[in-house]
Amino acid sequence: MGSDHEVEMSCQSQSIGVQENVQENVQENVQEKEHEFIEYHLKRNAAARARGEHGKINTLQGVYAIRRLALNWEPWSGCYMVSDGCKYCYYYGPYSKRYGQNTVQKTDEFDKPLKKTPKGEFKVQSGKIVPTCFATDFFIAEADEWRRDAWKMIKERSDVEFLILTKRIERFQISLPSDWGDGYDNVNLGCSVEDQSSADLRLPLFLSFPIKRRFIACAPLLGPIDLSRYLDGVEHVTVGGETGREARECEYDWVLAIRDQCIDAGVSFWFKNTGSFFKKDGIVQKVNPYKQGSLAKELGIDIMNGKKLF
Ligand code: SF4
Repeated sequence: MGSDHEVEMSCQSQSIGVQENVQENVQENVQEKEHEFIEYHLKRNAAARARGEHGKINTLQGVYAIRRLALNWEPWSGCYMVSDGCKYCYYYGPYSKRYGQNTVQKTDEFDKPLKKTPKGEFKVQSGKIVPTCFATDFFIAEADEWRRDAWKMIKERSDVEFLILTKRIERFQISLPSDWGDGYDNVNLGCSVEDQSSADLRLPLFLSFPIKRRFIACAPLLGPIDLSRYLDGVEHVTVGGETGREARECEYDWVLAIRDQCIDAGVSFWFKNTGSFFKKDGIVQKVNPYKQGSLAKELGIDIMNGKKLF
């Protein structure tokens, strides 16, 4: 599910960590995009400097963002608002380049997990973590039929971990494979919530479904959330603020409160990004999208216990 910034990621508004190795199958495309990205932004930065301003784009961070995107599997594209957390969705919100692209359709990488190299090896290498449907929603209704095939591919690639994040957890059981049982080992499923009401609506359902590996993403965090009664059986919680010119404030006190709940429950915690308007010690700071992750990291409040989500 998309959120609101290019260098971070969706529902998904979900930004993800940098993964060092770009898969072979996307190398060429990635290099081309990196080249375009660097050239374009170097020009923009030079023009800004000529005007006596600072160049604003960190090209290296942009390159990392492109590499992260290349690791994803987006079997379909298109999405539409499902709750308040979607208001400034990076992919489909009012300031995004895909605004209005609400038609859900299969992409040409639908069967990406099964694609092979000329040598007969899978292009998605064994052991990879593959963020799945981060630019749409895995459980969106229009994909109900396609999702049956997606589940088959996920099962076939039991050597790869699929990371799925949704704002539509109520649709989890539709198109679920008959052999799902207690869940597939290689599916790490996240429920995205933005405030207490969405948490109270989605998380009881989320916990009631047979899922082997669960995480919660409080992103974009729009208010205080008490997760304490929903953490039993959850491996991990990620928190992030909203990004965009009209983004709603993210308060550090809300973040710390969720962190405390995670500590009490023995659940790992990652403050992934501050959002564009970050309130700390009573002061609201405007934060460039390219710096939100590093600012969150500098606060030193992550409790990952060696866990690698991405
Ligand atoms: S559910 Fe769809 S519209 Fe909402 S944030 Fe995710 S991708 Fe965007």
